[in-house]
Amino acid sequence: MQHWTVGDVDIHAVLQAVIPIPPARLFAGAPQCYAELPDYCDRSGNILMAIQSYLIESRPVRVLVDTCFAESFLRSRNMPDRFDDSLAATGFTPEDVSVVVCTHLHRDHAGRNTVEHAGDWVPTFPHAEYLVTAAEYAHWSEITGEDRAAPECVEPLARNGRLRFVAPDHHVTESVQLVPTAGHTPGHVSVRVESAGAVAYISGDVVHHPLQIGAPEISALPDADVPAARASRHALLRRVADERALLLGSHFAAPSGGYVNSAGAGLAWQPLVEREGAR
Ligand SMILES: [Zn+2]
Repeated sequence: MQHWTVGDVDIHAVLQAVIPIPPARLFAGAPQCYAELPDYCDRSGNILMAIQSYLIESRPVRVLVDTCFAESFLRSRNMPDRFDDSLAATGFTPEDVSVVVCTHLHRDHAGRNTVEHAGDWVPTFPHAEYLVTAAEYAHWSEITGEDRAAPECVEPLARNGRLRFVAPDHHVTESVQLVPTAGHTPGHVSVRVESAGAVAYISGDVVHHPLQIGAPEISALPDADVPAARASRHALLRRVADERALLLGSHFAAPSGGYVNSAGAGLAWQPLVEREGAR
């Protein structure tokens, strides 16, 4: 299980699955999975796509960033779903989560917002407030397509007052703040954690794979607004590099944390070996 320490804050990866996919399914122009990124590709040249949440212990508040696919999604495709075991390995239960941040409302990020119970859809994290930007909710209300989170993942939360609309730079706790990174979707946010002089960012889908750090101009096919997504990716990665922050990639396979270093005119990914702290 991956874990990082950022000042006085602990961050745990909650991994649901790692799915190999051909690059052409994710990226326009189907780039090769670069040989210098062996942790993030398989031998057939597939991209390894992690589906994961991050649990931030910003005491006394526990913030879960995204909720992965719905419970039924992987099982119905005969793929193992490790979410429950992975959450249990953090030492916390769904009841312990105080806040859920929805970076955006795609099904691989908001699918497990709710769970079916006695014929009803109820919050998976029963004591949590779910945060989303108003722009994201408006976009979700308008779109169709297979990336979109299903109505039962969002509407029961809205109906029962569990969904809170927040500004894209909202402070969740003293240490945890949203960062506007529109483009992949119009209301997309990333998450910044700062504590005792250490900084970490959780990307959301502003960047899907480490190969985009060396080549941030590469767009993911699901990016709703390609120029805006590209601008957000450039800006966030530059900010991570300038702040010497830890970057935790929402879809990066392990090691999913690392640093973004300047390399000539561009940037380069430096993975952080598991269990090293970010102090
Ligand atoms: Zn995604």
